[in-house]
Amino acid sequence: MDCIFCKIINGEIPAKKVYEDEHVVAFHDINPIAPVHVLTIPKKHITSVLDIQEEDKELIGHLHLALQKVAKEMGVDESGFRVITNIGQHGQQTVFHLHYHLIGGRQLEWKA
Ligand code: 5GP
Repeated sequence: MDCIFCKIINGEIPAKKVYEDEHVVAFHDINPIAPVHVLTIPKKHITSVLDIQEEDKELIGHLHLALQKVAKEMGVDESGFRVITNIGQHGQQTVFHLHYHLIGGRQLEWKA
C-alpha cells in the first residue's frame, strides 16, 4: 500500500519513534509546529476518524491510553498539550492514515 505511515510502521521509512507497542506507534512529526509535536497512529491502516469501525473501538481506546504515555514521555502531561486529528479537505488532512497530533511544549493559542 502506498501510505507513508504504513511505510514508517514497516520500517521502510525512518522515523524518530517515541513509543511503540503491538497496536500503535508514536513518532516525531517531520515538520514540527511546536517544541513537542508527535504523531500517534494505529498500526492498522484506517484512513481517518470517518473510517473507524465498530471492531476498532478497543483499538481507539488503546490509542488514547498510548497518548497518555506519549505525553508523559515527552514531559508535557503536567503543563498540558493538545491532541488534534485532521479529517478531509476542510480539516487539511494530508496523510490518509489515521493520526493524532500531540502538540505542546509552549503556550498554545486557539484559532481555526
Ligand atoms: P495531516 O496534515 O494529515 O493532519 O498531518 C500529517 C503530518 O504528517 C504533517 O504534520 C507532516 O509534517 C507529517 N509527515 C508527513 N510525512 C512525514 C514523514 O515522512 N515522516 C514524519 N515523521 N512525519 C511526516
